[in-house]
Amino acid sequence: MRSKCRGPFIVIAMACVVGLSACTLNPATGERQLTLMSEAQEVAMGRQAEPQVLASFGEYPDQEWQTYVNDLGQALAAASERPHLPWAFHVLDDPLVNAFAYPGGYIYITRGILSHFNSEAELVSVLGHEIGHVTARHSVEQMSQQQLAQLGLGVAAAASEDFRPYAGYAAAGLQVLFLKFGRDDERQSDDLGLRYMTRAGYDPEEMPNVFRTLDRMQDASGQQVPDWQSTHPDPADRVGRIQARIAELPPELREGKVGRESFLRRLNGMTFGDNPRAGYSVGNTFYHPDMAFRMTFPDGWTIVNQRQAAGAISPEQDALVVLTLARENNPTEAARAFFEPENVQPGGRWRNSFYNFNATGSDGSLLRGVVGFVKHRDVVFQLIAYAGQDDFSQYGNLARRSLASFSELRDRRYLEVQPARVEIVELPRAMNFSEFTRRYPSNAKASEVAIINGVEEDQELEKGRIMKRIMGGELPGK
Ligand SMILES: [Zn+2]
Repeated sequence: MRSKCRGPFIVIAMACVVGLSACTLNPATGERQLTLMSEAQEVAMGRQAEPQVLASFGEYPDQEWQTYVNDLGQALAAASERPHLPWAFHVLDDPLVNAFAYPGGYIYITRGILSHFNSEAELVSVLGHEIGHVTARHSVEQMSQQQLAQLGLGVAAAASEDFRPYAGYAAAGLQVLFLKFGRDDERQSDDLGLRYMTRAGYDPEEMPNVFRTLDRMQDASGQQVPDWQSTHPDPADRVGRIQARIAELPPELREGKVGRESFLRRLNGMTFGDNPRAGYSVGNTFYHPDMAFRMTFPDGWTIVNQRQAAGAISPEQDALVVLTLARENNPTEAARAFFEPENVQPGGRWRNSFYNFNATGSDGSLLRGVVGFVKHRDVVFQLIAYAGQDDFSQYGNLARRSLASFSELRDRRYLEVQPARVEIVELPRAMNFSEFTRRYPSNAKASEVAIINGVEEDQELEKGRIMKRIMGGELPGK
């Protein structure tokens, strides 16, 4: 949950595009293509989504990085088959390793993937791949219900479709759903990425390094990397495939700019992993240093922290506690707005600005819950807990206790936490990797440090080599 993100958030269903179809010749792939939307529609879709994507993830707050990535992307796009699109490249403040493209030329790349690259050429290969999705006009497959369920927010979304007070939370839950492309489209984008990076004079051999890193991440953690892993072809297969493509290139294109050292030095100081300033939990208590509050959720519930909401879901996934910012400036106004819709009825006040309520969805389902409005440091928080009518009775007391626990965070140890950061080290002499981790310890597992550096755990490292380590990020009570 972030302080600067307020206001409505509307999810646009990318898959629901109704328009005139036409068969056109794709400039990037040379294929005849059934296009479901005009170029103007593509651009409109990407443009409409842009503020929502940025509000949902946040931009990485470093103008140098934004300019650097945008400049690289613009140069690649200008040499593509669709240079006239309103190309825009953003670095998102997100720890997940990911990059994705929206139609019309809107490309997003996370700080999480940037910190895993070891050269400018690796970055360029990923930008090129994403540009390929746009130039080849890849159509977007529908986001699956399964993905939604994986978030543990299925209940929230189902209950909130037409229930305005919860819409913010359901929408926030959708932020990690990415546009999915088919495997053939992914292979085509790999090929186009290779084309664009070699056109720009980069060493194509850097592209498979990215796939190797993704492959190792998958093996190490089983972590799902949206777009860049779960919907993409198996990274190991991609290495072989793209190497065959590189071998077909004319010799003069098989080498080029790498930009290793300059890129690594640029990474020095980049936020790594989750940023606890935007909220973190210790046990079942949630702390938000930037907004200086704390709140305790019911024992055993799963805590979910997102940019526009924080909350917890019951083990049976049939009840929720959700914390969002109200748009109004005082609790009375916020309560009035909450109870304005006809389908929401107040059921008595149990504390100043805390109410019971009943609500009806358009499908006739009945919900019961408690809601409170608290002014804290010039913003009004909406605290809400709800479940289906029959389930709420068992949660009522837990829910009220949780809502009442919202309070100012005063403990400096919790207030002053800082995120972990990448620190760059130039090796003063040759050493092997395990010696490196002893001499320059990281707040990350050795296996993870090896992956982000693109080295093996038994590798010999030469004198003068630039390495990344992870510093800081300690949390009190953990
Ligand atoms: Zn892709």
